[in-house]
Amino acid sequence: MIKLQNYIGGRLCEPAAGGYLDDIDPATGIVFAMIPDSNGVDVAAAVEAAKSAFPGWSLTSPEVRHDAMMRIASLIERDLEQLAKAESLDNGKPVSLAKAVDIPRAVANFKFYATAAMHFASESHQTAGQAINYTLRQPLGVVGCISPWNLPLYLFTWKIAPALAAGNCVVAKPSEITPYTAFLLSELCIEAGLPPGVLNIVHGTGPQAGAAIVDHPDVKAISFTGGTKTGEWIASQAAPKFKKLSLELGGKNPNIIFADCDYESMLDTTVRSSFSNQGQICLCGSRIYVERPLYDRFKGDFVERTKALRVGDPSEPDTNIGAVVSQAHMEKVLSYVDLAKQEGGTVLVGGSRIRLEGRCRDGYFIEPAVIEGLAHDCRTNQEEIFGPVVTIAPFDTENEVLEYANSVRYGLSATVWTENLSRAHRVAERLDAGIVWVNCWLLRDLRTPFGGVKDSGMGREGGFEALRFFTEEKNVCIKVDH
Ligand code: NAD
Repeated sequence: MIKLQNYIGGRLCEPAAGGYLDDIDPATGIVFAMIPDSNGVDVAAAVEAAKSAFPGWSLTSPEVRHDAMMRIASLIERDLEQLAKAESLDNGKPVSLAKAVDIPRAVANFKFYATAAMHFASESHQTAGQAINYTLRQPLGVVGCISPWNLPLYLFTWKIAPALAAGNCVVAKPSEITPYTAFLLSELCIEAGLPPGVLNIVHGTGPQAGAAIVDHPDVKAISFTGGTKTGEWIASQAAPKFKKLSLELGGKNPNIIFADCDYESMLDTTVRSSFSNQGQICLCGSRIYVERPLYDRFKGDFVERTKALRVGDPSEPDTNIGAVVSQAHMEKVLSYVDLAKQEGGTVLVGGSRIRLEGRCRDGYFIEPAVIEGLAHDCRTNQEEIFGPVVTIAPFDTENEVLEYANSVRYGLSATVWTENLSRAHRVAERLDAGIVWVNCWLLRDLRTPFGGVKDSGMGREGGFEALRFFTEEKNVCIKVDH
C-alpha cells in the first residue's frame, strides 16, 4: 500500500492527527494508497512554513525563481511515464491521455510561468508637467491553491506555477479523490532543491483541509477550481475577509454545428470534445446543436462513432474511454441518464454501466451516451453532468440556437462549427462564454486569459493575468517640480 504524505517546510510528513483516507483506483475499485486526512493543524503548520520562506523567496530574483521552476519542469518531463501511470491509477483516465495531455501540460505550466516571471513588467504614467506615476507589483505573501480531480496535475500546477513565479509562497491542496501526482510532485520539488516552505502541499478533504486554507487569516488569496457550489461557499467565507479570489467553476458547454461546416473535421473533434477524459473536462461540449439540414446525417455518423469508442482498461494503449472517477460519480452520471428518459429523451446509444472482464471487473465504467429529444430548458440540458453523456438537438436559426446555448446558468466555453467567417464572429460575440472555439476545441495558448462568465466563475487565469492576480498593485506618484 502506498502511503502519501504532506509536504510542509520542505519535508514529507504525516498528518497531525494521524488519520488517513482511502485512495481508490476507479478502474478496479481497489484501494491502492492512503491519503493524509489533514486538518487545521496541518494547514497552520504549512502556513507558518510558507510565511518563514516568503521573505527569502519574494526577494529572490526572477532568474533564480525561473531556474528552480525549470528544474521542476524537467523532472516532471523525466518522469512523464511514471506520472502518467499514477494519474491514470488515481483518476481512471487512459494512460495514453495522461501521457499526451495532462503531464505535458504540467511541464508547460512550469516552463511558461518560469519564463513569464522574467518578462513581467509594470507601467509608468507621466502626468504632463506635474508628476510621474509608476506601479509596483508585489507578491501577496502566502496564497492558497485548491484544485479538482478531473485534470489532477494539470490544474494543480496551473495554479501553483504562476503563484510561485510571482514570488508568493503557496499552501496547496489537491483533490482528495486524486492526490497521487501532487504527492509525486512534492518529491520532485525536494529533488529540484526548491527552498523549504516555498511550496507546501496539504492533503485531505475539502470541508476539513480545504476550508482551513480558505479560513486562515494569513492566506491572502485563494485560487480555486472546482464545482460551482463549492465556489459559492468559498466566496462567502473569503469575501468578508477581503481575500483575493479566483474561481474557476462548472460548465454546461454548447457545441453549435452549422450545415456549412468542414464535416469530417467537425465530426472527429466533436467525438473528442464530447467524450475525452470520459466527458470529465470542464470544457467538454455536452449540448450539441446541429443545423437542421445536417441533423440526420450527423446523428447517424455520431452515434456510429460513439459506438466504436473502446471502453476498457485505462492501461491498455487502444482504450479510448477509461473509468469515471469514483463510484459516487458513476451513480450521479447514471442517475442523469434516468432523468433524461423521464424528461422524454431517447437514448440513442450507451448510458449504462459496463462490467469489463478481468482485473477491471469492478471498475466504474460507463458506455458513452448520446441522447436526443430533450427540450433545451429541461434539467438534463441545464445541469452539469460531467460525464460521458451528451444531448443532440436540431435548430433552424442563429437566434434560436443562441437562445438555447445561453439559457444555462453557466458560461465557461462554447464551440462553433461554420465556414462562414461573418457568422463565426457574430455568434462568438453573442455567446455567453469565457472562451469560444471556432472550428477547433481545447486549443489553448497559455498567454490568453482563461475563465468563465455567469456561474462558471470569476477572475481570469493564464498569461500575465495570473501573475497580476498573485500580486498586489501599488501606485507611487512622484511630484516633479519644473
Ligand atoms: P469540488 O468543488 O467538489 O472540489 C474541488 C476542490 O475543492 C477539491 O480539492 C475539494 O477537496 C475542495 N473543496 C471541497 N469543499 C471545500 C470547502 N468547503 N472548502 C475548501 N475546499 C473545498 O469539485 P470536483 O468535484 O473536485 O471537480 C469537478 C468540478 O470542477 C466540476 O464542476 C467542473 O466543471 C469543475 N472544473 C472547472 C474547471 C474550470 O476551469 N472552470 C476546470 C476543471 C473542473
